Amino acid sequence: MRPALLDPLFAPVTSLSGIGPKLAKVLARLTGRDEDDVRVVDLVFHTPHSIIDRRLKPGIAYLPEGAIVTVEGRVDRHQPAPQRSNAPYRVYVHDDTGELTLTFFHAKADWLQRSLPVGENVVISGRAEWFNGRPSMVHPDYIVPADKADTLPDVEPVYPLTAGLSPKVLRRSIDAALHRLPDFTEWIDPGIVKRQGFPELKNALTGLHQPRDETDIAPESPARRRLAYDELLAGQLSLALVRSRMRRTPGRPVHSKGVLADKVLHALPFALTKGQKDAVEAILADMKQDERMLRLLQGDVGSGKTIVGLLAMLAVVEDGAQAVLMAPTEILARQHYEGIVRLAEAAGVQVSLLTGKTKGRERKFIENDIASGASKIVIGTHALFQDNVSYADLRLVIVDEQHRFGVHQRLRLSSKGVSPHLLVMTATPIPRTLVLAAFGDMDVSRLTEKPAGRKPIQTVTIPTERIGDVVGRLRDALAQGKKAYWICPLVEESEAIELVSAEQRFETLTKAFGADNVGLVHGRMSSADKEAAMEAFKASRTRLLVATTVVEVGVDVPDASIIVIEHAERFGLAQLHQLRGRVGRGDEASSCILLYKGPLSETGKARLSVLRDSNDGFRIAEEDLKLRGEGELLGTRQSGIPGFRFASLESHVDILEMARKDAAYIVNKDPELEGARGQALRTLLYLFRRDEAIRYLSAG
Ligand code: ADP
Ligand code: MG
Repeated sequence: MRPALLDPLFAPVTSLSGIGPKLAKVLARLTGRDEDDVRVVDLVFHTPHSIIDRRLKPGIAYLPEGAIVTVEGRVDRHQPAPQRSNAPYRVYVHDDTGELTLTFFHAKADWLQRSLPVGENVVISGRAEWFNGRPSMVHPDYIVPADKADTLPDVEPVYPLTAGLSPKVLRRSIDAALHRLPDFTEWIDPGIVKRQGFPELKNALTGLHQPRDETDIAPESPARRRLAYDELLAGQLSLALVRSRMRRTPGRPVHSKGVLADKVLHALPFALTKGQKDAVEAILADMKQDERMLRLLQGDVGSGKTIVGLLAMLAVVEDGAQAVLMAPTEILARQHYEGIVRLAEAAGVQVSLLTGKTKGRERKFIENDIASGASKIVIGTHALFQDNVSYADLRLVIVDEQHRFGVHQRLRLSSKGVSPHLLVMTATPIPRTLVLAAFGDMDVSRLTEKPAGRKPIQTVTIPTERIGDVVGRLRDALAQGKKAYWICPLVEESEAIELVSAEQRFETLTKAFGADNVGLVHGRMSSADKEAAMEAFKASRTRLLVATTVVEVGVDVPDASIIVIEHAERFGLAQLHQLRGRVGRGDEASSCILLYKGPLSETGKARLSVLRDSNDGFRIAEEDLKLRGEGELLGTRQSGIPGFRFASLESHVDILEMARKDAAYIVNKDPELEGARGQALRTLLYLFRRDEAIRYLSAG
């Protein structure tokens, strides 16, 4: 039960005056929530990235070009736009030092007459610009009568926005949300509060949204540090609670002599890399313990994680128990199944596939096999963990996360068996600090070397203007029997625009290469259509596959050797690297063509060249962090930890460490969160939507 104290914050945003269903939809997009799940607290947690300071009032003659300024003056005259002309409406204002021209395009004349009456004193704030030696201001941000000058804010926070949302509306909404803040009972250790100089939570949040200065919103400010601490503590505490409960229900050791594994290794056309061997060894050693395994297996796309997972599953099967492998999508589950079923056959192990699409009698059949234990390895999507699926003896859960975060949900899934071991596989080369923040104290294995025989992928960057050349060269390549992906631009603001651009690109490429040769996949297609398009490409009925990134082009098509990525500058480095990993999987030398729209910023150039020069996912991830760090100086959005609102890697590593220690201390001291501080900490968990963990408490 969420404490009643939090009710006002967890009411839907539509409960705030001035926010209707339409605005709520926009706010859902802004905050990354589902449409019916945008709460007041999401506004309170929306963090400004900079400020506008309106305190500069140098007098009209001394306005610095391009600066935000405030001017107090008297309105002299109006110069309306001539009928049917595109010329702007102008209003002239003067003070002791000079004359300022206010310029309005498509303005409503009566509104201007009302807000700028001739002969009256007014206060105006906005960006100063000089034209032909004369100061002017186009569409001022504020116009108020001189006797209401105090209603003009000195300093305003500037927030990340989204299409259809104006800064004023957002600020007003956040102001309304702030009024819902209750007084919290402090949950942070008094010693830490004192040493760190943390403000109270309510003050920290109000201060963040009503900054007096740039330093008030900086990641180093006491308010931001306190919020980061709260956020990280909530995360670490929930992980620690889950972890401690896992410890209380010991895992069941897995013993195997490696008989099944040997059979499969025999059937493999290759030898394991050193990294793969080490990872398997670490996993087997973990599973021999009576404590449950909680391990992360990191490795680039194509580094060979699947076989490591399979060998772990075979050890479990040899000991008479079951193992599951969960993939994030239907396509990937099927692909795992197809690859694994062949190998498992060599060891005489029965494998089943269970996804949302497994229906009717087939499903009953499979569910029976799972329940009886006939099915030893089960591969599928989240359908694997639906209530009606019960396992005879589930001892290992492997989650192939691809590029997602969110071990919290996954941990709950693993409650299906009698405390199964857990292995999470991820292609995101997350640095160690991020692993800590996102996964807590997990053991980590990394596959850093590429399997033998991989040809490096040649990466080139080409400006979009030369797209014609690229199409020409692609024509030659396809004529030689090669296969290629064409990735359409990512459009952050709108999936609809993304779709249109993919369809247009599909059309032009169809014209260039013939309708029979080109396929299309995008996020709005039915999964049957998607699969058909992927199958056609896999079977070489089509040779070029046009795709949006909404679709995880997860399919393993080893003979695809070219990937073209349009508007590469819009993608994150990690994402580009992952996309590139779709090629270079076969024997053929592969290439990746990054089409970019210039002119590129310095950071933009650096990013693309990192990718051109390196194929190492871990290195790319670190460079990405560094470059994003610089981006912060350039005034773009700061890099945070995925899923975190206040904590940032560059600034808060010390806080993460403190939160981790504190969480361990709390769980040790008050494992059920029953004491006074424990109760307050429950509120913290709810506040940051970590209530998942509360279900693990006996008095939850
Ligand atoms: P990941 O899941 O890490 O992206 P996969 O497990 O799908 O990678 O492996 C990619 C490809 O590499 C597969 O075709 C697999 O059979 C092959 N492979 C895996 N390990 C090796 C190895 N040691 N040597 C050669 N090929 C390998
Ligand atoms: Mg994989």
